[in-house]
Amino acid sequence: MIASPACTELEVVMMDWLGQMLGLPDEFLAKSGGRGGGVIQGTASEATLVALLGAKAKALARVKKEKPHMSDAEIVGNLVAYASAQSHSSVERAGLLGGVRMRALESDENNKLRGETLEKAIKEDLEAGLIPFFAVNTLGTTSSCAFDRLDELGPVCNEYNLWLHIDAAYAGSAFVCPEYRYLMAGIEKADSFNFNPHKWLLVNFDCSAMWLKDPSWLVNAFNVDPLYLKHEQQGSAPDYRHWQIPLGRRFRALKLWFVLRLYGVENLQAHIRKQIGLAHYYESLVRTDDRFEITEEVLMGLVCFRLKGTNELNEAYIKRINGRGLIHLVPSKIRDTFFLRLAICSRFTEKADIDVSWKEIKDTADEILNNNHCNNHNHVNHK
Ligand SMILES: *Cc1c(COP(=O)(O)O)cnc(C)c1O
Repeated sequence: MIASPACTELEVVMMDWLGQMLGLPDEFLAKSGGRGGGVIQGTASEATLVALLGAKAKALARVKKEKPHMSDAEIVGNLVAYASAQSHSSVERAGLLGGVRMRALESDENNKLRGETLEKAIKEDLEAGLIPFFAVNTLGTTSSCAFDRLDELGPVCNEYNLWLHIDAAYAGSAFVCPEYRYLMAGIEKADSFNFNPHKWLLVNFDCSAMWLKDPSWLVNAFNVDPLYLKHEQQGSAPDYRHWQIPLGRRFRALKLWFVLRLYGVENLQAHIRKQIGLAHYYESLVRTDDRFEITEEVLMGLVCFRLKGTNELNEAYIKRINGRGLIHLVPSKIRDTFFLRLAICSRFTEKADIDVSWKEIKDTADEILNNNHCNNHNHVNHK
């Protein structure tokens, strides 16, 4: 901070701008004059780990006060965190790196983690003498872009004293459009929120925006203050080195400033709306062909679909599509159903690209389904 005050000051301002663009509650913003504020991390993975470590420090302080006979090691050994089984692999990894248990909870039939599932797990663990302390709510899962029920998880976390972190790495960018903010209803109950402008808001990698209601838990947990880092301005602005894992920092606020100034809010909204519109256009094409099924409600720029039939058929199908080399699809599997994912990512994607993709997807389906058909005939003929 002392080496480059502009770097810190612009970051504070940019994170307030961005937070207001998303409609975050004032409590997360520096301009509120409270404790809250934003910081730019490198990746969503780091943000989850940092949130978990803050939650760990907070839980340690709370339990030490309530149960002075417990040692730090005993408390830490009993901590337990929660996330949906559909959460990103970096969430499980945050548990490993943070040295705490991380329970993967089953989501409902729409792939959303529900409040009652979390509450049941918390009660079981309390019964077993464990200390629930942290939960991750994913808004826009990687597999299928499902949204956990924040409106249900928030109250449960507040009731049981859990730090609630929101991982909206991909879908968070859509909240620049007011019409998608219903998907983050209940956010005021969260302790930290994170999304990646480098994924869907036209900012170059890396830029992961994180807001905290009370960063003092991180600052206290991560604060080692050797003499060579002391300076006279301590306390007058956030010392972001205490909000993150590394000491050194890049001037990431500058590229965020460029994107926000270059596009403006309206053009960024137009970009999101156009891409979601293209996803719905692709969805409508798939729905015209009854050989296919859509496997997840389309809300953002991701369309999950498959050929009606076995996983083996769909595995052979995607292999053939990707083998042809015109388009590339990344598949996923949820509860034993293998499906294909069409993701709209580039700011250059146009309707014509969707038409080309659909033709490729349809032609390849003709090929693979006709082949199967011929094989069956051959089979019959041989008999
Ligand atoms: C992409 C993604 C991540 C990982 O993001 P990094 O910035 O690469 O760490 C985490 N969670 C979700 C939901 C994602 O979509």
